[in-house]
Amino acid sequence: MRKHTLIGTNFEYFVHGANPCLLLHAGTHGDEHEVIDIVTNAIKKFESRLPDFIYVPHVSPSAVLHKTRHNGHGLDSNRIYLDGSDIHEVIWNQEVMMMSSFDLAVSFHEDPEYSTYYIYDEGGITDKSDLIHLHNAFLTKNDIALLTGPDDIHDKSINQAHFVDGYKKFEFKEGIYMGDVLNWGMNKGIIKHALIPETPGCLSISEKTLIIDSFFEMVILKYFYR
Ligand SMILES: [Zn+2]
Repeated sequence: MRKHTLIGTNFEYFVHGANPCLLLHAGTHGDEHEVIDIVTNAIKKFESRLPDFIYVPHVSPSAVLHKTRHNGHGLDSNRIYLDGSDIHEVIWNQEVMMMSSFDLAVSFHEDPEYSTYYIYDEGGITDKSDLIHLHNAFLTKNDIALLTGPDDIHDKSINQAHFVDGYKKFEFKEGIYMGDVLNWGMNKGIIKHALIPETPGCLSISEKTLIIDSFFEMVILKYFYR
């Protein structure tokens, strides 16, 4: 992958191949920074097997810089992706997303307060829930606990989404902007399907690496090459 900097800014993103159809995000919330290096290492490990992709390691550079959930404007970096935003980080990500169109977008998050894994499936025009169920079952076999119950600590605005065996699927409703970065891309028709894995912050680096590496192997690669 080649490192690029958005013209006129120091906003970094990486590109592999000429026709990116996979979008990878990390560093949306700066207090979830441990997962960034793990995702970057996984991308390097799997690069030759992945389809063409764009990777943005620091979706919110100001939140990552300060290691805070909120960005430099004091706002949750994943609730502000609306049309007509005047926040630079939002505009930069929108510009990068508009460079291609993506069959799959994955935004890697971490839940600092949890020791259980869960994943948001924002839905889209494809149903790949079987891949996620297989991956979640693999994690259980490897002693990673899955969240069953609400994600009510992370953010009240998510309407206390209820997870079953670490999985919650939403029905995408076009025209309703949730404010998160991938939902904006879905509304623009740039992203067909969006997933948000939430790696448990309380686990060790090796457990987090197991989750991320197996997610690449069992969900992302299978999504494109099953
Ligand atoms: Zn997050």
